Amino acid sequence: MVNENESSRLKQRVEQLKAEKAALKEKCESLENMQKILEQAIGEGNQRLLQADLLGMELEQVFSSCADAMWVVREDGMIVRANKMMLELLGKEHDEVVGKSCVDLLGDHKCNNGQCPLKTSRKPQIHHEFEVDRPKDEGEGEVEHYLVTTASLVTLDGSPGIVAQYKDISLRKQAEEILAQANSKLEALARIDGLTQVANRRSFDEMFQKEWNRMQREKKPLSLILGDVDFFKKFNDSYGHQAGDDCLRTVAAALKGVVRRPGDLVARYGGEEFVILLPDTPEEGAMMLAEEARKAVEAIGLPHEASTMNMVTLSLGVATASPTKDIDPKTLIEAADKGLYKAKEAGRNRTVLNSGDDR
Ligand code: GH3
Ligand code: MG
Ligand code: MG
Repeated sequence: MVNENESSRLKQRVEQLKAEKAALKEKCESLENMQKILEQAIGEGNQRLLQADLLGMELEQVFSSCADAMWVVREDGMIVRANKMMLELLGKEHDEVVGKSCVDLLGDHKCNNGQCPLKTSRKPQIHHEFEVDRPKDEGEGEVEHYLVTTASLVTLDGSPGIVAQYKDISLRKQAEEILAQANSKLEALARIDGLTQVANRRSFDEMFQKEWNRMQREKKPLSLILGDVDFFKKFNDSYGHQAGDDCLRTVAAALKGVVRRPGDLVARYGGEEFVILLPDTPEEGAMMLAEEARKAVEAIGLPHEASTMNMVTLSLGVATASPTKDIDPKTLIEAADKGLYKAKEAGRNRTVLNSGDDR
């Protein structure tokens, strides 16, 4: 009896242990699975960390090897990082820059005039571009020109800041300056008569129209003197074309020496004809100047054997107008030309005023 009871109890125990074993096995398997998942997650995590490290190293390399000077500045002005070129630009070591204040380092006029890129670059995704000049270390008064590009970013500690890139554009600026100088020289050359070095016809035409308009606005008289070398064809025939050119240079210089006001213009009108434009000058003043010009050429006493005067002389026609919108500016030139014609007819080496009353 006892044995039977004991045997059934033991059987029950064996069944119970079998069930416990199965449950444990199941738990074990689940733990093993969890361990595998965990190991996989750790592996992936490590992989990502490694990739992040590599990415960081790559970015650091890009940043430090960039040909332009760059730095990252926190919004409170502290330099978070600066690349090699930036250190070179500032002429400082890494520890003298990183962790320091940008205001102290730049000592810049840009800091307190509302142009500080830290304040202007706040808006996300907006790039700012501006030019700055920095005095050259060794040069007296010489400056280096930089194009600064800034963009906002979030620094590593989570606070906002900017990344600023300084591109040295000194060479470009220098080239621009040289080009501008060359252009203005070219511009000036295009306005000067190559032979006589006084203003050329194109320049006269422009100035004439300009002064006509100005005198019209200011209700002032505009005078014109047309001068023509007498018997110049014969001068060339007697002394040669080269001597003729020299003669034109001499006459031009004499005419230039006569005008005094900055607005007066002596120009070569064509061939051996010269024109003097006299803004804000009445008839009497223009006549006086024309006579001075004639006498100045006469006073040179340049021999001219084929001339009735035996020397190089000028005939001049003078005309004055009070410009209005109803008068064609050409009529003033025509009037001076008529005066010149009369001077030639009357025997040359003289000045004839074609007065407004006679026209
Ligand atoms: P007039 O007294 O009536 O003015 O007679 P002119 O001989 O001076 O006038 P004309 O118009 O008959 O001749 C002008 C001459 O000027 C003709 C041309 O050979 C000469 N000439 C025009 N331009 C130049 C130049 O640039 N150099 C030289 N050497 N001669 C020039
Ligand atoms: Mg002529
Ligand atoms: Mg002539």
